[in-house]
Amino acid sequence: MRIIDAVSRRAAAGKPFLSLEFFPPKEREFRPGFFETVDRLRAIEPLFVSVTYGAGGSSRANTLEIAAALAERGLTPMAHLTCVGADAASLREFLENLRAAGVCNVLALRGDLPQDGSGSLGEFVHAADLVRFVRREFPDFCIGVSAYPYPHPESVGFTQDRRATAQKFAAGADFAVTQLFFDHREYVAYVESMRGLGVAAPILPGVLPVQSLESLRRILSLSGCNIPAKLYLTLEEAQQKGGSEAVREAGIAFAVEQIRRLLESGAPGVHLYSLNKADMCLRIASEIGRL
Ligand code: FAD
Repeated sequence: MRIIDAVSRRAAAGKPFLSLEFFPPKEREFRPGFFETVDRLRAIEPLFVSVTYGAGGSSRANTLEIAAALAERGLTPMAHLTCVGADAASLREFLENLRAAGVCNVLALRGDLPQDGSGSLGEFVHAADLVRFVRREFPDFCIGVSAYPYPHPESVGFTQDRRATAQKFAAGADFAVTQLFFDHREYVAYVESMRGLGVAAPILPGVLPVQSLESLRRILSLSGCNIPAKLYLTLEEAQQKGGSEAVREAGIAFAVEQIRRLLESGAPGVHLYSLNKADMCLRIASEIGRL
């Protein structure tokens, strides 16, 4: 099933949804545990499930195999795909294999540049180049792209970054999933400004439940997004009073409130960064009344 069709149907019916992001287990021995997690999360009835793609193509086969296995289980998967340093032949092969496995949804990404500044970008400089390629060679595919309520760390500023995202839609993208953020008003303002740039497509907010202060610091340094002072102080206080368990609880409580506010603000649904954690996702789904 094409995700854009499913999202449009739910939006027309006024029925918001949850979708889930998974990362493929690195080692095969962890796959049974991973599929147990997936099976438990069926209770949420995710509209679709996305499978991340290792930087530099390190887990290309993993992404493909896991997406194929999720399709076999009757779910609607979307494979992430990065194009930095890739050539057309390898991208074509990946997409052909995906199609053969019954998966026709792809999140077209540029990917992170090598940290040491080495390596050339190759034929595909921006994610829009990959979108154009997929649209031309795989016209039956549904194409998702990334979107940044707080601009991407490399960008010059809000306006340039939003125009760059609009170019991905001009190139043929069907919908976007946002980078994590913590203030629902950032999403509302972002959607408004994208509509102002002529983008009418669905923009799905990505929500990450904070699990620990260490992971939060790592994520903030990678994504460059903002954290509201109130949330940071709440997490810090939780750490002092109740340790890591209290931080996790506070992170979940915040995610629940954020999702409620996003749905009240008109988001068609929420893409939950599952961290492959069934209990956490089931708890969140239950608290927002989705179970
Ligand atoms: P782009 O959209 O190409 O943007 C990258 C930068 O280039 C931005 O600063 C943008 O403003 C600028 N830019 C874009 N087009 C132009 C243009 N025409 N002219 C000038 N500047 C331009 N990474 C992984 O490795 N694996 C994953 O599975 C993965 N999943 C992700 C899922 C989501 C929802 C998100 C938001 C990110 C994900 N990432 C993943 C991270 C992503 O690969 C990085 O953020 C990467 O640095 C940028 O990729 P992009 O597709 O957003 O790039």
